[in-house]
Amino acid sequence: MTTDRARRVLIVEDETSLADSIRYNLEREGYAVDVAYDGRDALRRARLEPPDLVLLDLMLPEMAGLDVCRTLRAESNVPIIMVTAKDAEADKVAGLELGADDYVTKPFSMRELVARVSANLRRVATAVPAQEQPEDILEGGPVRLDVSRHEATVRGQPVDFRPKEFELISTFLRRMGRLLTREFLIEEVWGPGYYGDMKTLDVHIRRIRTKIEEDPHRPVHLVTVRGLGYKYTDE
Ligand code: CA
Repeated sequence: MTTDRARRVLIVEDETSLADSIRYNLEREGYAVDVAYDGRDALRRARLEPPDLVLLDLMLPEMAGLDVCRTLRAESNVPIIMVTAKDAEADKVAGLELGADDYVTKPFSMRELVARVSANLRRVATAVPAQEQPEDILEGGPVRLDVSRHEATVRGQPVDFRPKEFELISTFLRRMGRLLTREFLIEEVWGPGYYGDMKTLDVHIRRIRTKIEEDPHRPVHLVTVRGLGYKYTDE
């Protein structure tokens, strides 16, 4: 499968000489490579410019590799290959349980590494039909919607939204960070002729919160703007 765009690989590795060597080898294979030298920087870069694959060293300063893995997985479906020490069996198991896709053990050959990267990217490419249009995908915070197929995931897990819930959440995702008044939302989702109870909106918002928020009583994504309406943030 060929794409116009180079696949982006984010290397998370604090040993600069090893990071440089991996970068060199992946760039030679045509990948676009970004390097983070610690976990916080890795998360920042992954949020700024989402990679197609993350190569994550588990032994990192600042923030443990497993925490980086957990956070990355909570935020996206990006394939994660862990880099572990030879005898760190517990780390491998923990990482795979946290959602990593694969691992390589130090020391590894560059040839082996490149093969793993390409295999993990191929798996993703074949999982996504070629005709899929990117504008059919809406993403923000923990939510990802495939609009044309009417499918949704939250933190990587499939979630069923009822039709109006789906329309509401996609309305929010298309207008990320903006205050949407109750009137606007009613008109957008139920139509301009809707004169039913405004409580309908609140009930739907509550239902969506139970599906997307870690704590539906203290929402951080679908938040109330008191007296005015609601707003969706991907913070
Ligand atoms: Ca390291």
